[in-house]
Parts: sequence; C-alpha cells; structure tokens
Amino acid sequence: MNKKIRFFQSIHFKIALVFILLLLVTVEIIGAYFVRSLEQQNVETFKTSINLDPYLQEKLATDLMSDNESSADDNMKITISQADVANTATVVVVDDKGTVRATSNLNDQSNVGQKSASSNIKSVIYNGQSYEDYGYSDNTGSTYTRIIPIKNPNATGDGNAIVGAVSITAPMESVYANLNKIVKIFLIASLVAGLLGIFISIVISRAITRPIDEMKKQAIRMARGDYSGQVRIYGQDELGQLAVAVNNLSVRVEEAQEASEAERRRLDSVLAHMTDGVIATDRRGNVIIINETALDFLSTKNEDVIGVSILKLLNIAQDYTLRDLLENQKELLLDFSQQLDHELVLRVDFSLIQRETGFISGLVAVLHDVTEQQKSERERREFVSNVSHELRTPLTSMRSYIEALSDGAWQDPEIAPQFLKVTQEETDRMIRMINDLLSLSRLDSGTSKIELEYVNLNEFFNYILDRFDMMLKTDNARASADNNQHVQPAAAKKQYVLRREITKRDLWVEIDQDKFMQVIDNIMNNAIKYSPDGGVITARLLETHNHVILSVSDQGLGIPRSDINKVFDRFYRVDKARSRKQGGTGLGLAISKEVVAALGGRIWVDSQEGKGSTFYISLPYSPINDAGGDWDEA
Ligand code: ADP
Repeated sequence: MNKKIRFFQSIHFKIALVFILLLLVTVEIIGAYFVRSLEQQNVETFKTSINLDPYLQEKLATDLMSDNESSADDNMKITISQADVANTATVVVVDDKGTVRATSNLNDQSNVGQKSASSNIKSVIYNGQSYEDYGYSDNTGSTYTRIIPIKNPNATGDGNAIVGAVSITAPMESVYANLNKIVKIFLIASLVAGLLGIFISIVISRAITRPIDEMKKQAIRMARGDYSGQVRIYGQDELGQLAVAVNNLSVRVEEAQEASEAERRRLDSVLAHMTDGVIATDRRGNVIIINETALDFLSTKNEDVIGVSILKLLNIAQDYTLRDLLENQKELLLDFSQQLDHELVLRVDFSLIQRETGFISGLVAVLHDVTEQQKSERERREFVSNVSHELRTPLTSMRSYIEALSDGAWQDPEIAPQFLKVTQEETDRMIRMINDLLSLSRLDSGTSKIELEYVNLNEFFNYILDRFDMMLKTDNARASADNNQHVQPAAAKKQYVLRREITKRDLWVEIDQDKFMQVIDNIMNNAIKYSPDGGVITARLLETHNHVILSVSDQGLGIPRSDINKVFDRFYRVDKARSRKQGGTGLGLAISKEVVAALGGRIWVDSQEGKGSTFYISLPYSPINDAGGDWDEA
C-alpha cells in the first residue's frame, strides 16, 4: 500500500508542472501581444517621421516651376538637405516629366538630370496620390519608401496641379533594432519569471502536498491498526479542515475498534466459559469459531479444525448434507464413543446465522454433553429388564415344581418335601432380592436415612468378624443370620480360616452401624462364597493420615480384569449361573457401593483371576476426633 510514488507521478510534480506551464503560456501570450503592438506603434511612428514639412514642399514646388533649372536644382538640393528626414533617408526630387532634379545622396549626384526608372514615381505624378512601399536589399536591409506628390500651391483645380514628386527612402534597421532589443529583454524577463515560477511552484506545491502526504501516512498507519498519530493542521483552509476530519476519523475508528475488540473479548470469554460446546461456521459450513469446550469434547485442537467442514468434524457427512442442516436445523444425537477412547454422547442443536435481509451467513452448532443422561436412561431400561428377568427365573422354576406337585407329586413322600424345599428356597431368594431392591431404591431416592454415630471401628469390625467365627463353629447359618438377610446358606456351610490383621488403636469413625454391618457382611459372605473349601480369609484394618482402610482378602476365584469395574453395577455377576446357584442376587456390591458413598468413603477391589480378591473400603477419619477413648476413660 505504501508503495513509493515516482516523482513524475506525484501531485507535487503535477502541480509544479501545471503552474510553470500556465506561467509560461501567459508570459508568452502577453509577450507576443506586447511585442506585436510595440512593433506596430514603432512602425507607425517611423512612417509618420518619413515626411517633408509642408513649407519645404512649397519651396520645392516653387523651384520645380522655375524656368531657371540649374539654380532651381541647387535650391532644391539645399532645401532637401534642410529636411530632418535627410539625415537618415535618401530624398530624391523628380519633376513632372520624370527627371531626377535633386538627391540627398551625395554618391548618387550623377543621377540628377536623368530620367527616373521608378514606375511608382510616375504613377504618383500621374495619380497625384502618395505611395508607400517596403523593400529589402542585401546592402541596405529593410527599407521604407514614401513618394509624395508635389503640388502647385497656387493651382486652383486638379488639372496640371502636380509639378513633381519627392521620393523618401529610409532604412528601417533602427526600428527593428529597437524591437529586437525589447524582445531580448522580454525573453530574459520570461526566463527569470520561469525560473522564479519553478521555485515558487515547488514551494506552493510542497505547501499543498505536505498536509496531503501527512494525511496519507496517517491513513496507512490507521490501516495497520495504529491510531496513535495525529495529522498536523497547517491552516484553516480546506486541507486544514480535511486534516481535522482525518484526526476525528482516527479517534472514531479507534473507539469503534476498541468497542468491537471489547465485544469480541466478551464473546470469547462467554464462549470460553460456556459448559456447552459452540461451533460457528461460514455459509459453506466451514468452521470459523470453536470454543474450548467443543475442542475438549472432540479431543482436537483449534488449528486442526478451523476451515474444516462441520459435517466432517462431527463425522456426519455420510448421513447429512449442509442443505439438510440449513433447511431443517435439526437436533441431532451423536455418539462419539467409538471415535474417542471414552464414552461421549452429544446433543447438537443447529441454528442459522441470518442477516436482516434474510441472507444466511452461517450456522451455529451448540453441543450439549448428554452422556450421563443417556447412560442413566440406558441403565434404567437395563435395570427394569434385569429385574423382570431376575424375578421371572425363580417364578418359572417355582411354577414348574408346583405344577409337578399338583399333578400328583405331593403324594410322593420322597419327592414332595424336596420340591417344597426348592420352592421355599426360591421364595427366600425372591424375598432377598426384593429387600435388596427396596434398600437400593431407598438409597437412590434418599428416603433411607443414614443415622450417623461415632463408632470405634476397631471394636465394631471385630464384633462382626466374631459372628462369622461363631457361625463357623456352630455351623448354623440360619441361627446367625437372624438379623442379617444377606448371610446366605451357601456361605454358612463352607469351611474357611478367618485371619485378622487389625490395628490395636481405637479408630473412632462416623458411620451408620446397621448399614455398614450390611456392607461388611456382604463382602465377607462373597469372600466365603467365592473361596474354595478351607480357604484363608484375611480381614485387615489400618489407618492412614486421614482415612481408615478396611479390607477383606480371599484365596478364591478372583475376578477377570475386564469385569473388575463392573462388579459394583446392579445385577452384574461374573458367573451368573454360579452366583444364582449360591443364592446371589447381584445387588450386594451395588448396595455396598451406595452405602459407602453415602458415608463419604470409597469401595474398590483388587483381584487376580484364580488367586483371589481383596475388597477395600476407605472411610474419612480425622485423628483429632479420636476423643471417644478419652470419654470412655472418663
Ligand atoms: P452376588 O449376590 O452375586 O454375590 P454381589 O453384588 O455381591 O452379588 O457380587 C457381584 C459379583 O461380583 C458376584 O456375582 C461375583 O461374580 C463377583 N464377586 C463378588 N465378590 C467376589 C469375590 N470375593 N471373589 C470373586 N468374585 C466376587
């Protein structure tokens, strides 16, 4: 933009050139007119000076009419020598017969008495009219000749009044010499005027172009975004007013720029802090703006997506065209779980960016993360289907047994008690399941109240484990399961070795005793259920800086790595048939997880398939509150 302008293209040069040309043309026209007038005036003056005074003419007439020719000729010679004009001009007197009677040219006295060769003189004598003529010869240069008829002063009529003529021939050198001098002076004056004109025009054009140049520079700076400069104001003329206008414009543009910049920053920060993703495209569907949230959703970088088609970015090019999005502005549900390494379902709302004229200048897509919503929807659907399935199995089995009994098996003393036992077991399992479901539902809805109290976890854990030891000794599962519907028969009948690695310190922790006992019972029962007969079960309790960690390890089946995170899901069982056979509902660990979460803790499992599993529960614990012991002592 700021290309160097060549001198000959500049306004500076053009103004100077016009100014000089104007000056020269004016000077030349005036000069030509002036010289021409002067020449005419000089020639006129010269011509009027080429004349004979009337009294000399009278004298010549008298002599021409004299009969004594020789004395008359001498008189005429004297007369013409007295004329002023004779100093420069040659005066020749001719009589009415055409004979030269006197001449002022001393070198030409021989012509006196000769006939004049000039036909002009003859015609003047004949016509009685003056005659004038211009001549030129190499010897004399330009000459002017005037022939004046000499009339008889006493003659009354026109006839025979002409007695002769006087021819005056004068060189015009002096006239033109004067003119040449004036022309020379004039040329020198024009040259000086021209040089002065150049100087003045340069000064003037500089004065005009300097503010223009400054305004040009300011405009270029403004185009670059630099509004700091101000144009100098040289005067109150149009250029001065233009400079003021440019300065005002610069301030206005800066303000407008700042306002739009502030607006842009505000928009940027709104977009950056939005929890929804936003993508804006041009009218061809190519991305022009994308916010951080959208970049995070799509696990991509700004520079990789700018200019890319939104169809490609959202991976919907096979199913939709840009026209579909523009015309229908649909709401789409897009699952990105396969493209990305985590689960992600987005709801994308499209809307148009439209000008007042109705012209569509782009598209805005707002991305909402509906993964959790979708997940809970799915879980709810799965849950309902699982519950129906889980209840149908025992019911079907019971129906077949009851049918067999009603078909006559009730009379068979061998089979009848066995069939009744199975139906009773299935009923128990259903009751357990319904109880578990109720517990879960209460935990989910928050209706199950958590009654927190400070409990010495050390003592409490030992108490629970004592029950299992007792159960082992008495081998009477049902007796020990009075208060605990989670202790299942299969667990009770198995032989195992229970080891304790429990800290001696009192650990006062805030828990809901009933619910926490249910959790430990479930973990212990699982450990027994999934252990081989005679397996060792180790119960540990230790404290860290601000947690207590309780764990139960077994030497059982273990859990495959792929299932390790799913065992806390509702109805999830690694081996469904086996779990069901052992009376499991698949809800125990799900309830445990909810209870531990309600107590502010965490439950997790570490397992090696075929070697055993360890279930851990960590609960928040602050040693400062370890005042329970002091109260006991007090
Ligand atoms: P269930 O009533 O089937 O035991 P849980 O919710 O208590 O239901 O356990 C879910 C699943 O986790 C069980 O079916 C089992 O496959 C697995 N599991 C739980 N504890 C153990 C363990 N100690 N050893 C191996 N697998 C276990």
